[in-house]
Amino acid sequence: MKVDTKCLHEGWKPKQGEPRQLPVYQSTTFKYDTSEYMGKLFDLEASGYFYTRLQNPTNDFVAEKICAMEGGVAAMLTSSGQAANFYAIFNICEAGDHFITSSSIYGGTYNLFNVTMRKMGIECTFVDQTLPEEELAKYFKPNTKAVFGETITNPTVTVFDFEKFARLAHSHGVPLIVDNTFATPVNCRPFEWGADIVTHSTTKYMDGQGVTVGGCIVDSGNFDWMAHAEKFPGLCTPDDSYHGITYAERFGKGAYITKATAQLMRDLGSIQAPQNAFYLNLGLETLSVRMERHCKNALKVAKYLAANDKIDWVHFADLEGDEYNDLAKKYMPNGTCGVLAFAVKGGREKAIKFMDSLNFVSIATHVADAKSCLLHPASHTHRQLTDEQLREAGVAPDLIRLSVGIEDADDIIADIEQALANI
Ligand SMILES: *Cc1c(COP(=O)(O)O)cnc(C)c1O
Repeated sequence: MKVDTKCLHEGWKPKQGEPRQLPVYQSTTFKYDTSEYMGKLFDLEASGYFYTRLQNPTNDFVAEKICAMEGGVAAMLTSSGQAANFYAIFNICEAGDHFITSSSIYGGTYNLFNVTMRKMGIECTFVDQTLPEEELAKYFKPNTKAVFGETITNPTVTVFDFEKFARLAHSHGVPLIVDNTFATPVNCRPFEWGADIVTHSTTKYMDGQGVTVGGCIVDSGNFDWMAHAEKFPGLCTPDDSYHGITYAERFGKGAYITKATAQLMRDLGSIQAPQNAFYLNLGLETLSVRMERHCKNALKVAKYLAANDKIDWVHFADLEGDEYNDLAKKYMPNGTCGVLAFAVKGGREKAIKFMDSLNFVSIATHVADAKSCLLHPASHTHRQLTDEQLREAGVAPDLIRLSVGIEDADDIIADIEQALANI
């Protein structure tokens, strides 16, 4: 099946007489007939559900759909994109370990890595993702356990060079983890380019209507943990909390997700509510048609902005001549996403005047859903930073992030045009 068909038919596959739509298993616990069987579940010797803090069938059907769309072998849902990125790293890094991340990443992830995970003793190095391979290789250390990047960055909309980073990660014996939120598997499947683990904030395009916060982790099953056993003791040595099970031996390609469920979900409990998984599934059913429209609309808006003399600059990788156009064409030939960044001439003051003059294109701390919205990081998400600190974070003080929705593109352009006339 192609990815568009998978959006509708992977995951829940009803049998004779069963509901056509995914049922919500709104239950914290699950019943068993014998104490012995329940014991086996706790020992990971039998598979089955026992408590929704670890696993729930509704969630698993949705995770299975995303897994199939990405071309992975195992997946799990999390309560948010933040939880997904945290678990993805924490599943293979512990205090004293190190990982490498592109500095071009979502602000929330930046803070998670730079502040919270440092407090836990996990160190990371932020690298300029445009550096040549031999420069980037210098950042690896003996305790480096992973490499991280984002397919398309929020909010600077740069494009990640998968092949370069996959070569670097693999030649140093560590997996490549990619946050594929903005592209979605409809536009890009990082496993086809060497990534080993993919994460998502399903809050964005996957949900698509702005109703649920959620996340997902998918494993390609391609990384050979046992070949680098000394680096990954959590996967390759016995887990005392499960009577000495060694995940990589016992679960093979399912080891990474099994460990994240059995240890991290058990202990930290960042599970997605089954009702939210149900909403997410509805969103996924229409993802491929929405992505096509988002991309088409965003390109039309980007071309309009690029030709407008009140606009200082536009960044959108699908735009001919954009710095990232070559990488976009290679990795996302059907389009990147609906998010673009631009600046109006005249700096912060004009940017605010412009935004306040818009009608239906609304100011919102959200991105990547059906309704067009925009945000000025310097006045909103990053307002605690000085212009200097903003530049260091790669966010220009005059940058406006526009998330182009699925309205009629001409209406979006008309709204922008009347607001520009006002400044
Ligand atoms: C929003 C976002 C996140 C965080 O996701 P939440 O669901 O808000 O926790 C992570 N990565 C990217 C690229 C995002 O856009």
